[in-house]
Amino acid sequence: MKAIIIGGGIGGLTTAIALQQRGWHYEVYEAAPEYKAVGAGLLLGANAMKVYQRLGIADDLARRGGHLEKVYIKDYKGNILQQIDNNLLEQQYGCRSLPIHRATLQAALLEQLQQPVSTGKKCIAVTEAPDSVIACFDDGSEAKGDILIAADGIRSAVREYYIGSQGYRYSGQTCWRATINMDLPAAEQLNSAEVWGKGNGVRASFMHVGGNEVYFWFTKKLPENTPFTGEEALALIRRDLADFSGHMQEVTAHLTPSLLIHSDLYDLAPIRKWHKGRVVLLGDAAHATTPNLGQGASQAIEDAYVLADCLSSHPDHEAAFRHYAAKRLARTHKIVRISWQLAQVTNWKGACAVGIRNFLLRSVPTGVAKRQLDFIYNIDL
Ligand SMILES: Cc1cc2nc3c(=O)[nH]c(=O)nc-3n(C[C@H](O)[C@H](O)[C@H](O)COP(=O)(O)OP(=O)(O)OC[C@H]3O[C@@H](n4cnc5c(N)ncnc54)[C@H](O)[C@@H]3O)c2cc1C
Repeated sequence: MKAIIIGGGIGGLTTAIALQQRGWHYEVYEAAPEYKAVGAGLLLGANAMKVYQRLGIADDLARRGGHLEKVYIKDYKGNILQQIDNNLLEQQYGCRSLPIHRATLQAALLEQLQQPVSTGKKCIAVTEAPDSVIACFDDGSEAKGDILIAADGIRSAVREYYIGSQGYRYSGQTCWRATINMDLPAAEQLNSAEVWGKGNGVRASFMHVGGNEVYFWFTKKLPENTPFTGEEALALIRRDLADFSGHMQEVTAHLTPSLLIHSDLYDLAPIRKWHKGRVVLLGDAAHATTPNLGQGASQAIEDAYVLADCLSSHPDHEAAFRHYAAKRLARTHKIVRISWQLAQVTNWKGACAVGIRNFLLRSVPTGVAKRQLDFIYNIDL
């Protein structure tokens, strides 16, 4: 059996590795002309690391990424609102969350593949014959397989062309990310805080992602498509974070306009139809979420494992797709919903609203916090 995988991002590459390990043939087609060592960092949840543990690459990734002991949510004065102990995650769920640069992760995943990714191949259409599916690319070429896995991200062309969606939702927040080369003091490397400002969506964080690389991000509530030059963005970031305590000022002092990657934050309005005929959606193409829970990539990684497992354990692709969707839909939709609600809470403004918000966050009962952690990290693959 051969799978055509459209999209060589985190979801597509992980799916290729999972299928390879189960003896499937696959071809990965990526629209970008080449893989570049650019981009920002991300936190791979302990749930994603459990998948990589099963695929036998968790140790390799851990060697390449950073090492976090604690992840906090703090207010801008440095008061702790919530915390997650990474050692405790490891004890309770068998894996710890891993901060890593996207390019580092991508390189590690690519090294696992026995079949090179075809780059410069933008899928623009899909057709089905009774016993095969064909992907058509913008250079006029085609690829034929038994099934097609659309892992082409939130703006999935395959989904829009072949299955359909309910459109995108703007979260009200825009985001700048950067990777900075700097040496953080050891204590700052071990802990990371997502720091919440005085409302209006202002939040910022930095974390060590391995080597001397530090991943920084900043969000703010702003109208969609508000234009910024790099200089204007940097001035805004420094102004909004001027009274943030701790090491934040040193990190923002290292930022330059050209380091900043700007994106408005959207999700995909939840859809229930994830497959049609020989085509199935995966990762952001199926359930893109806002990044407030830091779970988008982790969910794509879970999808990859579960889909490969279903394809290997069911007699035909239709049964496999049905079981995959049944196993993944409710969980991913819940992640999308909670993440969306979190964005709205951070959009509150005014001292009173922010005070209440922070009080509520500090007062989350231990049992509720434990149930949240269980939901995210105690996964049934
Ligand atoms: C600001 C921000 C911070 C985030 N932080 C985190 C985090 O800390 N942890 C986390 O788990 N997640 C995080 N995420 C979410 C995460 O980035 C995504 O959920 C994840 O990248 C989804 O992987 P994917 O493979 O489904 O899609 P993508 O990573 O978008 O990959 C899709 C790939 O398909 C290619 N492609 C697109 N169209 C075509 C086409 N027509 N033909 C061929 N190829 C195509 C693209 O070039 C791309 O390589 C964050 C997202 C944002 C915006």
